[in-house]
Amino acid sequence: MNKDLIFESPVTVTQPSLPDFESYMSYVKEIWDRKWLTNNGPVHEDFKKQLKQYLHSSNVELFTNGHLALEVSLKALGLTGEVITTPFTFASTIHAIRNCNLEPVFCDIDPNKFNIDPLKIEELITERTSAILAVHVFGQPCDVSAIEEIADKHGLKVVYDAAHAFGVEVDGKGIANFGDVSMFSFHATKVFHSIEGGMLSYSDDSLTPVLNAYKNFGMTSPEDINYIGTNAKMNEFQAAMGLCNLEIVDNEIKSRGEAFKRYMKELDKLKDIQLMNVPDAVKPNYSYFPVLLKDQGQRDFLSDQLAKYKVIARKYFYPLCSQFECYDYDANETPIALNVSNRVLCLPMHANLSVQEVSQICEIIQYELGDKSEGTN
Ligand SMILES: *Cc1c(COP(=O)(O)O)cnc(C)c1O
Repeated sequence: MNKDLIFESPVTVTQPSLPDFESYMSYVKEIWDRKWLTNNGPVHEDFKKQLKQYLHSSNVELFTNGHLALEVSLKALGLTGEVITTPFTFASTIHAIRNCNLEPVFCDIDPNKFNIDPLKIEELITERTSAILAVHVFGQPCDVSAIEEIADKHGLKVVYDAAHAFGVEVDGKGIANFGDVSMFSFHATKVFHSIEGGMLSYSDDSLTPVLNAYKNFGMTSPEDINYIGTNAKMNEFQAAMGLCNLEIVDNEIKSRGEAFKRYMKELDKLKDIQLMNVPDAVKPNYSYFPVLLKDQGQRDFLSDQLAKYKVIARKYFYPLCSQFECYDYDANETPIALNVSNRVLCLPMHANLSVQEVSQICEIIQYELGDKSEGTN
């Protein structure tokens, strides 16, 4: 260890953005005076309108969190049987499939982008397949055109878990505009948040009443309960936080970008570390900073060492969803995902992380890996 490089206070992997206190309080005062706390209140409606503009989306609906939004989307699309998906994701994606009585079929991933590999989807399609649920992992867009082509050819629905991808664009097109439905998470740990919260973006207008019914106990009117729904409504206080954060999100992404660039510059020279590159066509949101180490031993070593310097990195996503004890799948069926999961480490990344802190983290990594490759001194 190099004691000179220990941080005074812990550097966390993420940190929630917080808007100006007074601007949130002015919304709270309004809500207090109006006594309308949830069920499509005026702040909720305003938030919805502004999100639609920001994301260039034709339709959006808000939810109390991303997970329930995802479950509602699978139900509203009327999916049955099998859903082709990735094991390299957060538990939510696969739990949503299972909670809707659907069967996840795990497809392997691209070793550089960490997303579902479109070349491996078709061989998994059976007569029971109803959809592809792909995840824009770490905000890196999936190969949306290849996925669309496969889905069209086989008559499948496409759902994107875009929990990491708020504000991302591909070839100038907002990431919310691909597939049948995209789910966004507004959880406090994400690039953009409403404390807890979620959103669905979709093109088919006829989904609107169905989604609204599902998130409100399946009710289409006080006396008509047409679906076995749930309660997944976003309240006014969440929407207010969302509106306040929408004002600062561009700056937050910009600050993350500075940290991102510093990491890329400093870590590029280390031979043991593989970085995730952003393609030219993509406008990124710098939501995470994942690196791949040489092997699991080196990854676990680095993670433990960083903690001694008070740098809290996270093994996202490890274990794979197909390794969860609550399930019974064989993770060896997706060897690339298994390999990536054993080697991945997400380094601290948030808007308040300074470039000096990033440099210090990189110095620690270089010191601990004993990397003497060119460019180091
Ligand atoms: C955060 C996350 C979710 C769940 O979102 P919540 O808003 O926390 O319910 C789903 N999928 C992925 C990939 C996530 O990272």
